[in-house]
Amino acid sequence: MKMLIAGNWKMNCSLEDAKLLIADIINGIHVREGLRDRCEFLVCPSFIYMPTIRHAVLNHNLLSFGAQDCSDQDNGAFTGDISATMLKESGCQYVIVGHSERRGYHAESNALVKAKAQKVVNNAMCAIICVGETEQQRSNGEALATVLKQLEECVPEGADSKNIVIAYEPVWAIGTGKVATTADIDEIHTAIRQKLKEMLADGANIRILYGGSVKPDNAGDILNIPDVNGALIGGASLQAQSFLGIAEAAQ
Ligand code: PEP
Repeated sequence: MKMLIAGNWKMNCSLEDAKLLIADIINGIHVREGLRDRCEFLVCPSFIYMPTIRHAVLNHNLLSFGAQDCSDQDNGAFTGDISATMLKESGCQYVIVGHSERRGYHAESNALVKAKAQKVVNNAMCAIICVGETEQQRSNGEALATVLKQLEECVPEGADSKNIVIAYEPVWAIGTGKVATTADIDEIHTAIRQKLKEMLADGANIRILYGGSVKPDNAGDILNIPDVNGALIGGASLQAQSFLGIAEAAQ
């Protein structure tokens, strides 16, 4: 299975910066021969830049293209929302759902995350379903139970290795520079794999990403853990050098 190296640009970049970033990433992949044999690259820009980035991505066919969220509704009076159907029409292959910033700032529940993931799957795209414990839950010894409950409650009907990816992102590690230990990542990823195998016929083949302050200098250790099948990257995805440096660390 190829590693998925996914960049979540969040609400960052001017339009000009976004154009420069995607051009740098495309050039960087071109000059790093062999990287694409091991890794699939994905960028998830903000909705407003998607047409521009899609144009650049489609011209080169080196990267996948995704969104950071979607509505749990098909259409109608939902001001400001964007449906999975619209994203599909806009060329999206992946949609991140249940990111901790959505769960935290927009009070998204597991039920809502599942409903969003369901729309993504129903529209023939791949849902990147984020799970992860807070610092409080980890210090209470509830990390594993929290993650497994999120998994049970967020995986949609009809899920398989083509239409879902799981991203384990400890909330306390996102954007903080704090990284989970390799032992902790190993423990959680092994448990996620086990749970996926129990829940789904091809649970063994579903990619499980780690996210939370992944940088080129820690990526080698993280991506070498057996059930880590890629990374979801925030801060370090905003520079082509660090984004691709993470992929280079994947053996
Ligand atoms: C994220 O937001 O998904 C993330 C992992 O961010 P960062 O890499 O900046 O910690």
